[in-house]
Amino acid sequence: PLLLHVAGARPNFPKLAPVLRALQEHPVEQLVVHTGQHYDDSLSGIFFRQLGMPPPDLNLAVGAGQHGAQTAAVLVKMEAVLMEHEPDVVVVYGDVNSTLAATLAAVKLHIPVAHVEAGLRSFDRAMPEEVNRLVVDRLAGTLLAPSADAVDNLRAEGIADDDIHLVGNPMIDTLLDQLPEVEATPLPLDDLPEPFVVATLHRPSNVDRHEDAVELTRCVQAVADDVDVVLPVHPRSRQHLAPLLARHPRVHLTEPLGYREFLALVRRCALVVTDSGGVQEETTVLGVPCLTLRDSTERPVTISHGTNRLVSRSSLLPEVRAALAAGRSDTWPVPPLWDGHSGERIARILVDRVTV
Ligand code: UDP
Repeated sequence: PLLLHVAGARPNFPKLAPVLRALQEHPVEQLVVHTGQHYDDSLSGIFFRQLGMPPPDLNLAVGAGQHGAQTAAVLVKMEAVLMEHEPDVVVVYGDVNSTLAATLAAVKLHIPVAHVEAGLRSFDRAMPEEVNRLVVDRLAGTLLAPSADAVDNLRAEGIADDDIHLVGNPMIDTLLDQLPEVEATPLPLDDLPEPFVVATLHRPSNVDRHEDAVELTRCVQAVADDVDVVLPVHPRSRQHLAPLLARHPRVHLTEPLGYREFLALVRRCALVVTDSGGVQEETTVLGVPCLTLRDSTERPVTISHGTNRLVSRSSLLPEVRAALAAGRSDTWPVPPLWDGHSGERIARILVDRVTV
C-alpha cells in the first residue's frame, strides 16, 4: 500500500515528522509531497534537516500567492500527482491552503483522506484557517483529533464516531523528541538580557493591514519599555509590522528561526506573546506562560490544561506585567495523550485503513 503525505507550510512539518517515522515500522510505502507553499529554507528546509526527515519526494513549488491562486495551484498540480501515483490514502496536516487543496483533489479522485489535527475550531470564519478546517473535516474519512474538544466538535457537526480517532498531538511528539537537541542549542542572539519575552505575530488579523500593525506596534513597544522582546519575523509580517517595530531599541527582530533555535529561546524566556497556533501548544507542554493575541483560539486545551491566556491589544501590557510578576509555576496539567506517542497511534490507524 502507498500512503501519500502532503505538507506545505512551517506548522505542517513538526506534525509530519513523527507520523513518517512511525510508519517506517510498518510494511507500507510512503511518498512525501511538499507543495512549496513555504519555500524559504528558514521556513522549510531547515525543518526537514533538524527533524531528521529525508527531503520531500516531490515539490510542487506553488509559492506564495492570494488564497484563490495558491489553493488552485495546489489543486491542479496535486490532481496530476495523485493520478500518476494512485496512493491508497492521502494524509493531510493542519489547516493551511495546501491541506484544503490536497483534500479536494483526492476526494474527487475517490482517494480516501486522513486529516491529522482534525476537529479544531475557533468558530471564527474570518480566519482563513477555520474555513480550511471545516471543509477538510467534512471531506476527510479518517479524522485524527488531537484533543477531546476536537472530538466533540466533530460529533457536533454530525460526523460518525467510527471516523473519529483521538490520537493526541503529534507536534508534541516532535517537541519531546527534540528537547535534548533544543537544550544543547545556544540562544540565537548574543548578550540577550534576562528576563526576556519571545513574540511571534503573523495572523492576517494582526499584521495584514497597516492600521492593525500600527496599533499592535504601539502595544508591543509599550511591553518593550519594560522588558526585552525577541521577535522572529514571519514573512507575512515583513511588510507592515517589522519596519515599525524595528525602531525600538529593546525589540530584537530576527529572521524566522530554525525549530531548535526558536524553542531554545522559548525554553529560556519568561513569557511568550503569540498569535500562532502551534506555539500555544508548545508553551503548554513546556510550562512557559503564553499570552495569545487573538479573540479566539481553536486550541482551548492550551487554556484549560496549559499556561495560555487570550489577550487583546489593550490588555496586553497589564497581562504581561501580571504574568512576569507571577513567574512560572512548577506544575501544570498537560492535555491527555500529548505524550510523545501520537505518531505511533496515527500510524496504526492509517495502516489499518489501507490493509483491510
Ligand atoms: N517556529 C520556528 N521558528 C520561528 C517561529 C516558529 O521554528 O521563528 C515553529 C514553532 O516552534 C512551531 C511552528 O513553527 O513548531 C509554528 O508555526 P507557525 O506559528 O508558523 O504556524 P501556526 O501554528 O500559527 O499555524
